[in-house]
Amino acid sequence: MKPVAAIFRLREDQAVEMSKLRVFMRRMFAAWLCLILPSACSVNPRFLLPIASDQKLEAFLAEEGARLLLVSENAHIPMRYNFYLVKFAREDILGLSLGGHDIFISYELTRRAYTQQGYRWLFRHTLAHEIAHDVLGHAGMTHEPTFNANSITGSDLGLLGPAVFYNYSRTFELAADRKALEYWQRIGWDCRIWIAILENFLAQNYLGDAAHPTEERLRQAIEVCNSADRPAAADGRAPLTN
Ligand SMILES: [Zn+2]
Repeated sequence: MKPVAAIFRLREDQAVEMSKLRVFMRRMFAAWLCLILPSACSVNPRFLLPIASDQKLEAFLAEEGARLLLVSENAHIPMRYNFYLVKFAREDILGLSLGGHDIFISYELTRRAYTQQGYRWLFRHTLAHEIAHDVLGHAGMTHEPTFNANSITGSDLGLLGPAVFYNYSRTFELAADRKALEYWQRIGWDCRIWIAILENFLAQNYLGDAAHPTEERLRQAIEVCNSADRPAAADGRAPLTN
């Protein structure tokens, strides 16, 4: 983890430093607020996430998010959405949706997606999934928790302070996948790429967890993909994901 002193080190791009300083101060204020008012953090922990600042990547993220919003049920309110880059503590956490039209995407994934086509599809997969959670209103709905020994915790996210984080159920995760695939198809992105991403997870022995079972997600994606019209890849095969 970067030492606090490094945040104050002067660099050539002072605007970036000031932005980091603002993020740092906001997090310190939020941590203080949590100490005196814990309920505030359990309601709205987004202020405690390790938000990263990078103008180029933020613009890229917002642009890609806007493409998906345009084909979503919330196409009429894109201005209400905010997209954030986050340096999640656990590296396999790629995105997060807490409701309120705030979408959080891994800084590292976004950085790679900016220059590497393979990662761009994984990035679009993640972004569509998180937007789908928001559009479907999952954060504000009650649901049966899925028992999950590998649940994501506040410290996995890098949350600062005593914030509480609740995982979505498997039902919600699969619903978000299905909705996200609809968005992909409306844009014209080949759903076989989505399938290839999940197949790649399995090939790497990444089985997911109880709420994100890779095999079930793959089965659903194949079902959705097979039932839809899709653009033909130039060589008849889905491009590789990485
Ligand atoms: Zn999800």
